[in-house]
Amino acid sequence: MNGDDRPNLHLDTDIKFLKGVGPARAKRLAKLGLRTVGDLLEHFPMRHERREARLIENLDYGMTATVVGQIARVSSTFGRGGKTVRASLIDNTGRCSLTWFHAGWIQDKIKQGMVIRATGKVNEFRHLPQLVNPQFTVLADDAGPVDESEAPELAGVYPATMEVSSKAIAKLVRENLDAMLRAADEPLPRALRVRRELPGRRWALRQMHVPENDEKREKARSRLAFDELLLMQLSVALARRARKHAGAAQVFEHNPLIDERIRARFPFSLTNAQNRAIADIAGDMALPRPMNRLLQGDVGCGKTVVALYAALRAIAGKAQAAIMAPTELLAEQHYRNARKYLDGSRVRIGFMRGGVGTAERRQLRLGAAAGQLDLIVGTHALIQEGVEFKRLGLVVVDEQHRFGVKQRAALRGKGTAPHFLLMTATPIPRTMALTAFGDLDVTVIDELPPGRSPIKTRVFMENEARDVWNLVNQRLDAGEQAYVVYPVIEESEKVDLRDATSAFEKMQRGPFADRRVALLHGRLPRDERDAVMSAFAAGEIDVLVATTVIEVGIDVPNATCMVIEHSERFGLSQQHQLRGRVGRGAKPGYCYLIGDKQERERLNIMAATTDGFEIAEEDLRIRGPGEFFGTRQSGLPELRVANLAEDIDLIMRARDDAAALLRDDPQLEKKENRLLKHALKAKYGPAMEWISAG
Ligand code: ADP
Ligand code: MG
Repeated sequence: MNGDDRPNLHLDTDIKFLKGVGPARAKRLAKLGLRTVGDLLEHFPMRHERREARLIENLDYGMTATVVGQIARVSSTFGRGGKTVRASLIDNTGRCSLTWFHAGWIQDKIKQGMVIRATGKVNEFRHLPQLVNPQFTVLADDAGPVDESEAPELAGVYPATMEVSSKAIAKLVRENLDAMLRAADEPLPRALRVRRELPGRRWALRQMHVPENDEKREKARSRLAFDELLLMQLSVALARRARKHAGAAQVFEHNPLIDERIRARFPFSLTNAQNRAIADIAGDMALPRPMNRLLQGDVGCGKTVVALYAALRAIAGKAQAAIMAPTELLAEQHYRNARKYLDGSRVRIGFMRGGVGTAERRQLRLGAAAGQLDLIVGTHALIQEGVEFKRLGLVVVDEQHRFGVKQRAALRGKGTAPHFLLMTATPIPRTMALTAFGDLDVTVIDELPPGRSPIKTRVFMENEARDVWNLVNQRLDAGEQAYVVYPVIEESEKVDLRDATSAFEKMQRGPFADRRVALLHGRLPRDERDAVMSAFAAGEIDVLVATTVIEVGIDVPNATCMVIEHSERFGLSQQHQLRGRVGRGAKPGYCYLIGDKQERERLNIMAATTDGFEIAEEDLRIRGPGEFFGTRQSGLPELRVANLAEDIDLIMRARDDAAALLRDDPQLEKKENRLLKHALKAKYGPAMEWISAG
């Protein structure tokens, strides 16, 4: 079978029907996530390498080389295996031969006088270099003298595996590109393409794989990035629209008396920023459609207080409120805070902790379902276990980017629509706010409660650790406490824990021999963990060696000092969160990063600024959105081409265009939008439920 007899390919055709792919190869490709024709077509090279042509006089036997030259003669012979085509190629330095075995069809493609670029393995034939079965591109049908330096080829470097090399993928793509492109649709309506001066999608797909030059490749990238961003913006716009039309939410009208009563619960007056946040939230909750607000602010800015205000507002309106956090430790802290501020009130609080007996669990579930509990605090086990509420008026989710879009949707779907408040200490870069979080309204708390002093951060290299321990001991001598943080990366948890444990033992013997040192990590049984934390909070421990279980929310004002070991293994935003643990009292905070030399520049950003936004932007630029939010948990749609850190202009354009498209055709049912709707459905399936809500 050759390419021409093949049945028409579709994007969802199994990859095994491509030329050069059998069942074994299909299996290996599947490991790369390549299962269909469409997968391969959108498996773009990570970059292109410039393959310079070699002069013929510089060819060595055994090498794989590219030459550019003019065809001087073409001949063919018949042998046992079929027709062999031979061409003689000349450049200014010599002559070589190109030989294709069993390839009669080549004879129609090359002619005397053509300038071609050929790549293949070099051996010897009749005392001349010979390229066997070379791949080639015709550069000119007929040309004068050839300047070999001018025809660098851009060779794609593909994401590959041990079993399927980049080269093999490149070959596969080249052999099937025309057929695959025939299967590709043009999803953009013509008018839009003309207005934005966008090249065709097929052209762009071709240029991504085999670009003619850098400029065309960038033009192609930007076209395909626009497609991705447009679909994303369409789905965001549809989600927003759906929210407006979603089931009615309970209205909590403004009531000065209640407002005053709630404020009286806090032993301080709220900051201006907190008051602004509360005004936003109260405004949302006074409307009959569910709030969907992101509350963003640096660690320690007082988000928890705002969340409790919102919860009490709902409870005062005879509804229930739920507060959820990503970890037990954090959930527990919310619970303690709630207890503290609500001490002596009539609010009934339940805490859904992990690992409690079924009896206690049942009790809590019953309390929630019967409306006997007003405020329920827990981890997202609350959703997973399908806890039901009698009258859920508000859901608060702390550090929500770990919850993922699906979980958000699960909660939203439960009974009457509750108001929804998401809190995060991770600043969301502008591009992310416009895309992945585009369906949220955002409030920023940009002010810390009075009396905090900024954290001083310094970067040290591994061989300077001794200096760090001396600095820490100075703080300890002053009666303060310290954290020493170790990375524990999920994939290598065991090894990392061993490192942290042995470092802990070394510290006990070495720099902190006469101090009280304890180790805290996520694998410790709950009660042990609790015991360590409370001992640290009570000042009975001087140095807490810990993994990132302390990442968010732990509040020990006397802990003024933090060392981050293997700093290079953390994201910048994560380190920024971590250091937010210190300097929470009136005493200044100190953060010492011990890191790898090669990462010095990146770590210096931490020392240079305490602006969480700046750090987040930098993180996003360096690590990309998946890493930024802790990879898989992020629930972000996959972007193959667009770059959320850099494509801000494209994002804005896509946003405008998505809005205009939906204004003109709310259901995307016009003929010219049919393929766009189809693409949207394929990528954001559930979004299509939203579409009919318009
Ligand atoms: P976040 O959740 O944003 O990290 P918290 O709500 O936990 O911050 O507040 C951090 C600390 O600041 C807590 O000890 C809290 O009691 C205190 N706090 C919050 N708001 C104020 C305020 N307006 N004035 C003084 N202290 C405050
Ligand atoms: Mg908090």
